[in-house]
Amino acid sequence: MRKTAALIMTAVILLLYAIPVNAFTIIYDGKVEEYPWAPIVLVVDGHTVETEEMPPVILNGRTMVPAREFFEQLGAEVTWDNKAKRVYIEYDEETIILTINSRTVYIGSNSASISPADPAPKIINDKTMIPVRFVAEEFGFEVEWVNETRTVRITSPEAEDVRLTNVAFAKEEDADTIFIALDEFVNPNIFRMQEPDRIVIDIYGTESIINDGSIKADGQAVESVRYSQHPDRFRVVADLKADADYEVFKLRNGVEISIIRTGEYDYDEEATAPEDEIVEIPDEEVTIPDTDGKVVVVVDAGHGGNDPGAIYPAGSKNPEAIEKELTLDIARKVRDNLEEAGIYVVMTRDSDVYPTLKERAELANSINADLFVSVHINAMDNKDEIDGAQVYYHKDSYFGKKLAKLVQKNILSYTKLSDKQIQDGSSFYVLKHTKMPAILAECGFITNEGDRNYLKTEKGRQALANAISDGVLEALGLS
Ligand SMILES: [Zn+2]
Repeated sequence: MRKTAALIMTAVILLLYAIPVNAFTIIYDGKVEEYPWAPIVLVVDGHTVETEEMPPVILNGRTMVPAREFFEQLGAEVTWDNKAKRVYIEYDEETIILTINSRTVYIGSNSASISPADPAPKIINDKTMIPVRFVAEEFGFEVEWVNETRTVRITSPEAEDVRLTNVAFAKEEDADTIFIALDEFVNPNIFRMQEPDRIVIDIYGTESIINDGSIKADGQAVESVRYSQHPDRFRVVADLKADADYEVFKLRNGVEISIIRTGEYDYDEEATAPEDEIVEIPDEEVTIPDTDGKVVVVVDAGHGGNDPGAIYPAGSKNPEAIEKELTLDIARKVRDNLEEAGIYVVMTRDSDVYPTLKERAELANSINADLFVSVHINAMDNKDEIDGAQVYYHKDSYFGKKLAKLVQKNILSYTKLSDKQIQDGSSFYVLKHTKMPAILAECGFITNEGDRNYLKTEKGRQALANAISDGVLEALGLS
C-alpha cells in the first residue's frame, strides 16, 4: 500500500516536471509570455501558505511572490505607494522598501542591493511581485528551496535563543576567517554593503554573553571586524580593504566565514560583473550623491530671496513675521533632527535665496530622494480668526498620505496649533512634480495672532520641527 502511494507520488512529481501543468499567461515589462513551470509550494514554519490572487512564479530562476498577499500572511504590514512605485514591508519593527524594477532596497535606514541573481521587484499581471528569498531573509527568516518538491521552505527567526560566546579573527594564508562561537549552528544572514565596502553578518535568535567590541584584523581583505548586539540580532561587520568573496562554513559549535581577497578595492572593477551575471536593469536610478547608504530626505524651506511668502502685517515694510524666515528656521531644525537620526538630508535652500518650485522638485528627483518635506506657513488676510496646522499630500501616494497623517498627529500633540486636518494637495507643484512620497506642511497661520506669536518663539518652531522629523522617522519605521 505504502509502496503504491510512493510510486504514485513519484509519477505525479515526474509528470509535474514533464509537462507544464501550470501554463498561464504572465504579463510584465510590456511582454506577454506563457508561464511554463510547475506550481511552487510556499511553506512557512511547516504550514503551506496559499496566494490566491496570484501564484508564485519563477523568474530568472528565482521565486517571486505577490508582496501583499504573501507577506501579510507572515504578519507583516505591506503598503504600496503608487506614486513612487514602491512597496513598504514592515515586519518586527523593521521596514524594507523595494522599488519596482530597481535593485536598490532600503532596510531600515540603510540601502542595500538585491543581488544580480535575484530579479528586481516587478509588476506581473498587475501584482507587485518581489523576490521572496531576498526579502524573507532580510527579515531574518531562513529560506530554503527544496527542488524535489518545488517548495520554498521559510522558517521564522528561532524563538529559542542560542548562546553566542565568542567572535574571533584569524589571518590564514589563503583567506581571512571570522569565527563566531555558538552553542549550536545558526544560519547567518550575510550581505554586502558599500561605502564603505563591508560584509555584514547578522545572526538571529542568539543571546550574546560577550560585550560589543572590535578586532584590528589587518588581514588580506579584512581591515577590521566589529561586532555588537542589536535588539533582534548579533551583527558582525567585516570592513574590507580589498575586493573579496566570502564562504560560510557550518560548524557544530558555530559558524565560520571565510573571506577571500579577489582583487584590489576598485569601484569600477566591482561595478563590472562577469557578462553572464549581468541582468538587465531597466530604469535604474540616475546618479545619486554619496549618501553613505542612508535614506535621503529633501527638506524644503518654503519661499526665500525675493519671495518672502506670507508676511504680517500684509504689505508692511517692517513686518513682525515673515514666512520665508520662519520656514528656513523650522527646516533647519528638521534637518538637524533627521541627521541626528542617521538620515541623509538635502536642503533645497539653506539661506535667503529663492530656488524655483521646478528647481526644488528637480533637485529631489535628480538625487532620487526617498521623501520630500516642504515647510510653509499659511495666511488668510482679513480672516485672522482662522488658525491651525494642515499637512498636504498627493492623492496617488499612499505613503505620502501616511506621512501627512503622522506629521499632523504629531503637530497636534507637540504644539499649541489646532487641527485643520490633512488635505489632498495633488495640484501643488512640489507634490505633483516630485517622484517620491512628499508632503507640504502648513505650520499654522501667520495671520492668526495665536499661531503667529507661537511661531515667533524658538520653542514653538522647535516643537514644529520635532513634530515633522518624528513623523518622518515614524513613517520610515525608524522611531
Ligand atoms: Zn508658503
